[in-house]
Amino acid sequence: MAHSELLLAIGCNAQGPLSGGSGIRPGGQTVSTTEAVPCLLCAVLARRWLDRQDRLRDSRIYRCAACGGRFAVTGDALGAIEQGRWDVAELKAVVRQNIASGVLPRIEDADGRPSVIAIGRQAS
Ligand SMILES: [Zn+2]
Repeated sequence: MAHSELLLAIGCNAQGPLSGGSGIRPGGQTVSTTEAVPCLLCAVLARRWLDRQDRLRDSRIYRCAACGGRFAVTGDALGAIEQGRWDVAELKAVVRQNIASGVLPRIEDADGRPSVIAIGRQAS
């Protein structure tokens, strides 16, 4: 929701500028650890970080240029995809449709099956 995006933006700003950062301040906390990993859906090099809005389910957010933007995935869903239990081609198509229309989708595990829901908007 817009509310979540707002909190995220405030959190980032409160920690200082994103550009030109000179590392972690003593006693300070990192905003989030961004890792460079292959995209969950298309294997192109992407960014991944923890979804602070959905910590209970250990969700991650990916940002993939090839997929066109951001998408979230719960810990359960991430495991299912990494273990090859789900049809990634189909998920990729659905997620990319969402991103293309400006929606931030989240891939979730719904009783063992993949489910993609809209949780917000793509940040510009
Ligand atoms: Zn991708």
